[in-house]
Amino acid sequence: MFSVEELLKAHGEPEREVYLDLENSAPVAREVLEAMLPYFAERAYGNPSITHKPGWMAYDVVQRALEEIRRHLGASRPEEINFIPGATEANNLALMGAALANRRRGRRIIVSRIEPLNVLHVALNLLRPRGFEVVEVPVDGEGFIDLDALGEAVNRETILVSISAVNHEIGTIQPLREAVELVKDKNPDAVFHTDASDAYGRIPFNVGELGVDMATVSSYKVLGPRGVAALYVGEGVEVERLLEGQLGTQRLWPGVENVPLIVGFQKASELLFRDFEGNTSHMRRLRNRLMEGLLKSIPETLLNGPRERRAPDNVNISFLGCEGEALTIELSLHGVYVSSGSACTRRLLQPSHVLTAIGRRPEEAHGSILMKVSRMYCDEDVDYVLRVLPGAVERLRGLSPLKGEGGDV
Ligand SMILES: *Cc1c(COP(=O)(O)O)cnc(C)c1O
Repeated sequence: MFSVEELLKAHGEPEREVYLDLENSAPVAREVLEAMLPYFAERAYGNPSITHKPGWMAYDVVQRALEEIRRHLGASRPEEINFIPGATEANNLALMGAALANRRRGRRIIVSRIEPLNVLHVALNLLRPRGFEVVEVPVDGEGFIDLDALGEAVNRETILVSISAVNHEIGTIQPLREAVELVKDKNPDAVFHTDASDAYGRIPFNVGELGVDMATVSSYKVLGPRGVAALYVGEGVEVERLLEGQLGTQRLWPGVENVPLIVGFQKASELLFRDFEGNTSHMRRLRNRLMEGLLKSIPETLLNGPRERRAPDNVNISFLGCEGEALTIELSLHGVYVSSGSACTRRLLQPSHVLTAIGRRPEEAHGSILMKVSRMYCDEDVDYVLRVLPGAVERLRGLSPLKGEGGDV
C-alpha cells in the first residue's frame, strides 16, 4: 500500500502547476465560486416548491438558470431543460427513460462504439438484458461515425439513437446534423439523443438547428461545479422517470433542486458564452500550440482523433514505447496533470474502448494521454508543458519494458 502523504512529499514544489485533466474534474472559476457562495446559507436557500419567501427566491433563481441554459442550447422552452445531478445520471435517464417509454413501439437502440461508458454501458448492460436489441455503429480511424452503417441500422423497430456531438476522449466533432437527418428520414419516430457535454461552449451547438430530441450537458466541463448537469428533452418526447419521490420544479428528476450548484452552472455558462468566439478561438490557439509542439518535438507519436473537425480544447497523443499511466505520475511530479488512455476497471488496466475502436493497438492505447485546455490558460502554461513533457517521455522510454518488443517502432 502506498500512502498519499508520501507520494505528495515526493512531489516537492514544481515550478508551475498546469491542470490539463479537465475531462475528469475541473477547478471552478473564481467568479463561479463567488456567484455560488451566497446561495449556500444567505440567499434563496429555500425549497423552490414551497410557498414562502426563501422558496420563492429559490424558484426564481432556478427559473433564471433554466432560461439561460435554454438559450445557450437553442431550446424553445425552459420546461424542456431538466437539471440532473450529473451527466452520468442524465445519460442514464435519457437512455433508460426513453427506451422504457417507447418499448411498445420497438426494441432497437443504436449507439456509436465510442460513446462514453455512461451511454454505452447503459445500452449494453442495462437495456440489452431487458430485451432491447443494441446495435453499435463503428467509427473510422479518426472517430467519425460510419454514416452508411448508421443508415443501415435504422429500421422500423428503432426507438432510440444516441451519438455524442463531440467525442470526450479524442475530440471528434461528429456530422450530427447528417446523422439526425439520416435517422429521421428512415424512421421519424426514433428518438435522437446526443451527449453534448464536450460540445457545449466549445463548438456551435443548437438543439433546434440539429433536430435532436434529447441532449446532455455537464456543468464542470465548462468550469462550473461538479454535481449538476442538464438534460434537454424536446416537447412531446416521451421519457419515463427512473426515480420516484417528491417532484419539485424538475419533471424528470425528483428531490430538492441543488440551487447553489445550479447557480454555478449558470454562471459558468454565462462566462463562456459572453464571448464564445473569443473563448473558443483562445482554446483553439492554445490547443494547436500544445498539440503541434508535442508532435514536433517528440518522435514516435500518434495523434488520436482528427486534426480538422476537432474540438478546440482536446489534445490526445500516444507516445509509443511509453506507459500512459507512468507518464501521468512522472508529469505529476513536475506539476503537469493529465490522464491516460487506460481505464482502471476493477483494478485491471484496460485500454480505452474509444482508442481501440479507432484501431489503436493495445500498446498504442496504453501510451496515450489526454489533455484539455480551457479559457483560463495562457501561452506560458502550454510552454511549460512543452518544456516538461519531452524529458518525461524520454526518461520513461529509457525504462520501458515495451522497448524493443514490438513497442519499439
Ligand atoms: C464528463 C463527461 C460525462 C460525465 O459527467 P458527470 O457529470 O461527471 O457524470 C459524461 N459524458 C461526457 C461526454 C463527458 O465528457
